[in-house]
Amino acid sequence: MSSNSLKRLEGKVALITGGASGIGESTAKLFVQHGAKVVIADIQDDLGTSICEQLGGHETISYVHCDVTSDSDVRDAVDLAVSKFGKLDIMFNNAGVGRLETSILESSNENFKRVMDINVYGGFLGAKHAARVMIPAKKGCILFTASVLSVMGGFSEHAYVASKHALVGLAKNLCVEMGQYGIRVNCISPHGVATPLLIKETGMEKEALESLVSEEGVLKGEVLEAEDVAAAALYLASDEAKYLSGVNLMVDGGFSITNPSLS
Ligand code: NAD
Repeated sequence: MSSNSLKRLEGKVALITGGASGIGESTAKLFVQHGAKVVIADIQDDLGTSICEQLGGHETISYVHCDVTSDSDVRDAVDLAVSKFGKLDIMFNNAGVGRLETSILESSNENFKRVMDINVYGGFLGAKHAARVMIPAKKGCILFTASVLSVMGGFSEHAYVASKHALVGLAKNLCVEMGQYGIRVNCISPHGVATPLLIKETGMEKEALESLVSEEGVLKGEVLEAEDVAAAALYLASDEAKYLSGVNLMVDGGFSITNPSLS
């Protein structure tokens, strides 16, 4: 194996929303290891800046404050990737929020709008601004972090489940439109990664959460880590996946298969 084949994203430029924590942070680290230049776009400025410092600073990776619900923030983040690193090959629309809320009667209207705004409208803006620079380049890869809850219901809040189903619909429609420009569009759907989002959502400690989640899937005893989701993103973003578009890749240990009653 040549040293280049170990760097599966050599020469590519990626923008990762929600890159300051959890899945986005792990993906930023893995993409840099694999030779990509990366822009992290998030609202947690201290975390984002410190990840960039850890990963080698301005030559390789940059942080930009970007609220994904702001058209101008997303536009500026895409433009930064292009002005700093020359182009944009990979747009990873990963930022997302969610909360545990089981009853429709408990769900607040404001929260429903907020979750849809960040998870769906944010993904739409990311795709739109990425397409603006990818269409003329006639190549690109747009990824979304959906969720196991993009194909099933029964958990979490109504807004979260609705938002993740909507993202998959958005990705399918983009896949049809973008193929003519050589742009691939795919989703990744994890289940139960002990990131700050899930720990905050459930109120459980990391260890308790991990053991619960690992008992639910086909792969009992296997705990999903943010790094495993990053590995799926690496594959979909790399040229090894050059013929994959319109896929919703489940990274769920078989959970969505073993729990059909929830779907
Ligand atoms: P996380 O909380 O660690 O990371 C989410 C990041 O998104 C944070 O850095 C946060 O600051 C950022 N963010 C939130 N609102 C934003 C906004 N308006 N603009 C820009 N950035 C914003 O959680 P995570 O688990 O790594 O979540 C990443 C994605 O994975 C989310 O879309 C989430 O829905 C999805 N997901 C997570 C799990 C899980 O079990 N953790 C499972 C399925 C899907």
